Amino acid sequence: MQTYLVDIDDTVYSRTEQLDDTLQNLMNIKPFSGVKNFCTEHDCVFVTTGDPLLQMKKMRILGLKKSASAIHVVSENKQKFSVFKLYPSSIVLGNRRDAEIRYGNLAGHYTVLFLHGKYANLPIETEHDCANEEYDCISEYVHKI
Ligand SMILES: [Mg+2]
Repeated sequence: MQTYLVDIDDTVYSRTEQLDDTLQNLMNIKPFSGVKNFCTEHDCVFVTTGDPLLQMKKMRILGLKKSASAIHVVSENKQKFSVFKLYPSSIVLGNRRDAEIRYGNLAGHYTVLFLHGKYANLPIETEHDCANEEYDCISEYVHKI
């Protein structure tokens, strides 16, 4: 079964539109359309940067925790590379070309970029920063799979 290595913030839900720095709306965050079904029907491993307790709480509120095959929380984006290397030929889904896409490509995976949220316009800085596919939102991708 194909494994998907999936980012959380601004990939499976709109961090930019649903949360501010106070996190006061945390209990109301909702995944993008189609994401929940996709995660139930596919082997999804979540790889996210941030505070472990907060990221796990987001997964629970989004309703994605039970269907996840694994959840890895790292403290810096570049640590995603070591996690990505644990999985053979996977598909990486993310919103940052300087994180999921760069380290996904470097780890030899197929990469899909969603140009959503505050990092949608990051510049291409290295030869590894372009994804195999690009969409405005993960919903377009999951409805096509
Ligand atoms: Mg993200």
